[in-house]
Amino acid sequence: MNIVLLGAAGAGKGTQAAKIVADYALTHISTGDIFRKNVTEGTPLGLEAKRYMDAGQLVPDEVVIAMVKDRLAQPDCEAGFMLDGFPRTLPQAEALDSALLSMDKALDAVVAMEVPRDILMQRLTARRQCRACGSIYNVMGLMPKSEGVCDSCGGEVYQRDDDTVEAATKRLNDYDAITSQLVPFYSEMGLLHSIDGNRSVDAVFADIETILQG
Ligand code: AMP
Repeated sequence: MNIVLLGAAGAGKGTQAAKIVADYALTHISTGDIFRKNVTEGTPLGLEAKRYMDAGQLVPDEVVIAMVKDRLAQPDCEAGFMLDGFPRTLPQAEALDSALLSMDKALDAVVAMEVPRDILMQRLTARRQCRACGSIYNVMGLMPKSEGVCDSCGGEVYQRDDDTVEAATKRLNDYDAITSQLVPFYSEMGLLHSIDGNRSVDAVFADIETILQG
């Protein structure tokens, strides 16, 4: 099974992705996580991506598309994958389509998580994340037992540079102006499943399970 998780920043894609991966044997491909790893490691890709990411801007299509094509060609994607944070633009969606076609693969479902904008803003600015394993925390809710230290791996829990009010506003504006075009795109392909993401983690996951089992 090959799926795409679609949703604005803060919609809960990362949280649901972790649950999906635990239950279904899918390879999780988060373009944001790949970029952050490259930034931490100081690779040329990381250095290029960082200046866009810190400002809350999208990394150019050609950079992201090349990176995802490379990732999809790796053996662990054979048994199925879940894309999280990609595609984010129409050219990315079209490039994904033709890349999959040339690999004799196809998408089975696109799950779009919908959350009102004011809630997204609250979630983004309250979010904290583990620099090492990506675990997600929230200053309004669950925080690590020991301040600044990840419960899962002991890594540093920090606020992402792109979760400031200014960068979060830019990311949400980009979602409305650019990424939301993917909703009609995948709807016309008969792949789109929209769900209400403004509910508990378990309620959202129950909907996702129904879609993936259908
Ligand atoms: P995320 O963790 O998915 O919110 O991604 C963090 C940042 O990485 C975004 O704000 C972008 O700067 C960059 N990024 C991740 N995925 C993409 C993509 N598909 N296209 C362009 N930029 C991306």
